[in-house]
Amino acid sequence: MFVRVIVDAPLAQPLEYLLPAGGDPREEATVVGRCCTVPLGRRRVVGVIVETCATPNIATDRVRALDAVLHDVAPLPPLWLELTRFAADYYQHAWGEVAIGALPPQLRVPPGPRFVAALNKLRVRATTATGQASARCELNAEQAAAAQAIAAARHFATFVLFGVTGSGKTEVYLEAIARRLAADPAAQALLLVPEINLTPQLEQRLQARFPGEMLVSLHSALPAGQRTAGWLAAHEGRARIVLGTRLAVFAPLPRLALVVVDEEHDPSFKAGDGVRYSARDLAIKRAQLADVPVVLGSATPALETWFHAAAGKYALLRLRTRPLDAPRPSAASGAPADWPQVSCVDLRQHPPAHGLCAPVAQAVRETLARGEQTLVFINRRGYAPVLACEACGWLSTCPRCATFAAFHKPDRTLRCHHCGWQASLPRACPTCGNQDLAAVGHGTQRVEETLQMLEPAARILRIDRDSTRRKGTAAQAFEAVHAGDVDILVGTQMISKGHDFRRVSLVVVLNADAQLVSHDFRAPERLFSTLVQVAGRAGRSGLASRVLVQTRYPRHPLFAALARYDFEGFATDQLAERRAARLPPFVGQALLTAQARSMDSALSFLAAARALPAADGLRRFDPVPMPLARLAGVHRAQLLAEADTRAELQAGVSRWLHEVRDLASRTRPRPRWQIEVDPAEI
Ligand code: ADP
Ligand code: ZN
Ligand code: ZN
Repeated sequence: MFVRVIVDAPLAQPLEYLLPAGGDPREEATVVGRCCTVPLGRRRVVGVIVETCATPNIATDRVRALDAVLHDVAPLPPLWLELTRFAADYYQHAWGEVAIGALPPQLRVPPGPRFVAALNKLRVRATTATGQASARCELNAEQAAAAQAIAAARHFATFVLFGVTGSGKTEVYLEAIARRLAADPAAQALLLVPEINLTPQLEQRLQARFPGEMLVSLHSALPAGQRTAGWLAAHEGRARIVLGTRLAVFAPLPRLALVVVDEEHDPSFKAGDGVRYSARDLAIKRAQLADVPVVLGSATPALETWFHAAAGKYALLRLRTRPLDAPRPSAASGAPADWPQVSCVDLRQHPPAHGLCAPVAQAVRETLARGEQTLVFINRRGYAPVLACEACGWLSTCPRCATFAAFHKPDRTLRCHHCGWQASLPRACPTCGNQDLAAVGHGTQRVEETLQMLEPAARILRIDRDSTRRKGTAAQAFEAVHAGDVDILVGTQMISKGHDFRRVSLVVVLNADAQLVSHDFRAPERLFSTLVQVAGRAGRSGLASRVLVQTRYPRHPLFAALARYDFEGFATDQLAERRAARLPPFVGQALLTAQARSMDSALSFLAAARALPAADGLRRFDPVPMPLARLAGVHRAQLLAEADTRAELQAGVSRWLHEVRDLASRTRPRPRWQIEVDPAEI
């Protein structure tokens, strides 16, 4: 018997091997989906058997024998094979690249002699968690209706659960999961979240809600053994609930009954390298293949999602009230009753001193005086984004990237936030010797310093990637905020995720303008979503709360929509703009990028690629340098391709890439290139 095997290599077709005879015939029947080891060139690699065949396509005498079938891991189910194959086709990679990449790292290499013993140990280790059963809270009417709608869906259906932070979305997920698991003792649920490390509370809530059921977490920061153990538990049907980041969308779940994507708009669901898949989109596909419901939860759904909800393709479930709020007359706008009062401080009228303008400094002082907490959000870490010599105009740049090097004050370094380059601070200007170098602009460290200067008695804590580099420090920091040991919290986006700061009554937003005037058409959508999340931190315990935005554009409609928590109005406007400008979701896009030693050769490769024949429906634009034109010494260029529908795009790009691969193999030196379908940034 012959088998077709996929391996982690950019091959258009599965490879064919001879399955050595003499095995148990019953085993031969169940060989599809098995992991195996095969010879490939002079290497031995892991593969997955996807098909058996009586006669191979290549000459029989050229077929090599498969090394070994891994009988200790159950065959990957047909739906898993279908999902990985779909992802490969859609994102324009080889099936094996997606499938092998979706296995836990320990299964991606040929097993050593002690492998089976190790597997069995891992099986024992992943046992049922013993959580403290918690009292379930009574769902309010909207929550109950949402959970009922989800639980009642017998087939594939996409639900959008739309509600601000604290509106009780998680309780709805838990209830929907509980009903599914109760209805079928073997049923499994998949819950995808953008980041696990920042939300240990969710894991605890799940454990408390499902004591005695096996819950496994899957994310890339896990130790290898734990990840394999969790994956096996999911694959073998022992885990009832899988909580994971984007990679968990590929966890094999033989009895999948419900898929939930929390914070579905979050950009981290899109993979940034390798196969650039969107875990949210694949979660929907996966639910469709398994014929089960999928829930997309968000306070600010992705515009792509909202588009389908508005068109009735997805079912919209709204949560309008926050269960824990003191009952107050609801604002007419549809905002939750305790939505903070949002106002803009016009930077042109109130020139900032040390980055903060007077009304903001005043508000911080008043909040402190009342014994309440302030949260200062600025999406830029470091002390200042650039250091300048006022004598000759020198600016600190990264020697390897076409970008500035940021000044970090605590360790007196210049650092590149793109490639990681760092150097100690120069004593004087490298070009003219002037000793007065000035920090230009503000990052979290500088804002922290300003606040400390203005409010010397305040307890100030900074949370960003630099302050939380050591494991556990982020969790500790958040604990300190919860415990009330912090008066002012300064931080990046990190502070906006999944945390519930009950005593925060003032939120200050700095530097939002950078995203308001960005070249990226998705920037306003991201900004709105971030601001809703940050604003949602405030005033959760009946404190009258405010959000102050320092901006040069106080009349921008985005801020007006934020003030009313009018996501729908904002989304409708944005979609109208996108329709007029022919941007997604009204067209499908793919981005071909090239990296080379010089910009010229990157651009000329793309120009040659553009000249290749392609389907009529595929429009290809001129190659241009990427926004970050040089990264770590490598020059980068991009070419945008688009089509009216995603189906046309997929077909067109697939045929075109055929030619591009061919071109790349003929070009010397060999160019490096990638394709990204539905690119997150252009
Ligand atoms: P979200 O996921 O939308 O941020 P959560 O489900 O985490 O909201 O709910 C926010 C808080 O309100 C949690 O502490 C939760 O336990 C509580 N909560 C949610 N629903 C109810 C309810 N119906 N009754 C009482 N408390 C609730
Ligand atoms: Zn100088
Ligand atoms: Zn750099």
